[in-house]
Amino acid sequence: INKALRRRGIVVKFYSNLLVVEDIETGEQFLCKLRGKFKKQGIRPITGDIVEYTKIVGNEGVVENILNRKSELKKPSVANIDQVIIVTTIDKPAVPLDILDRFIVLVEYEGLPIVIVLNKVDLLKEEQIKEFESIYKKLYPVVKTSAMTGYGIEELKQQLSGKISVFAGMSGVGKSSLLNSIENNLKLRTGEISEKLGRGKHTTTAAELLRLSFGGWVVDTPGFASLDIDHISENILRELFIEFENDKCYFPDCYHIDEPGCHVKEMVKKGKIPYSRYESYQRMLEELQELRKEA
Ligand code: GDP
Ligand code: ZN
Repeated sequence: INKALRRRGIVVKFYSNLLVVEDIETGEQFLCKLRGKFKKQGIRPITGDIVEYTKIVGNEGVVENILNRKSELKKPSVANIDQVIIVTTIDKPAVPLDILDRFIVLVEYEGLPIVIVLNKVDLLKEEQIKEFESIYKKLYPVVKTSAMTGYGIEELKQQLSGKISVFAGMSGVGKSSLLNSIENNLKLRTGEISEKLGRGKHTTTAAELLRLSFGGWVVDTPGFASLDIDHISENILRELFIEFENDKCYFPDCYHIDEPGCHVKEMVKKGKIPYSRYESYQRMLEELQELRKEA
């Protein structure tokens, strides 16, 4: 095969053993088979993979090669995610801050950049928004939105532009509404029932990348749905709270509970680390300690 004919594309979805590759430059889609070598090597492309492919006839092609992944998420299985958009709100539903902090911990564990979206601001009082921002704005970009009124949608678009993003957040916070207000013909898997139906009909469970008209992709299924933190060890957990500055405690191995000379507790006392963040940490640490005791 002439290497000059190889083009670059991104895997956007699967149909049983065929995959749809979208050309990076033209956006044209090709239904592709895999070269036999993939089976032998035991590697398979996943959604989000950048591949080299060659055209055969019409819109059919063959995937020749998978480029190195810069990230890989397991659930849903997607490569090369650039960022996770954690959507939350305060009132309807009342998302506890420790649930938000759990999402943050899970994404930090995967080493992926975070953007927090505070949605449904049309339902919130100015002081609720201010308080929320006082906790999170120091740590991550916070975009305030209302899928209802359209407030903040332009800013959210800017955050998504040119990147591969996956949404996360509790059910009911407005993830699908936001995506619909960003782009009105995105084929989303909304609600559990349609999701199940959709998956029953297709022969694949793979996630799909939806192309944004202004550049970039979003994964059609939310990530980090389980909220399970069992796979995270206690000593790693400390590092996932990015404001803790673990190295400033007197004991290098400080867990920030009752050790003397604890910088983190000092910062909490001074109000420099919000109490809610520290509380979330304590709760997660206790949960993990209980788990290890049982084991
Ligand atoms: P998801 O489960 O995170 O995908 O949430 P949905 O997008 O299904 O939204 C859940 C409910 O919240 C729906 O009834 C939406 O109409 C409503 N909703 C979503 N965004 C907003 C918003 O910005 N303001 C208000 N008032 N309601 C919203
Ligand atoms: Zn400490």
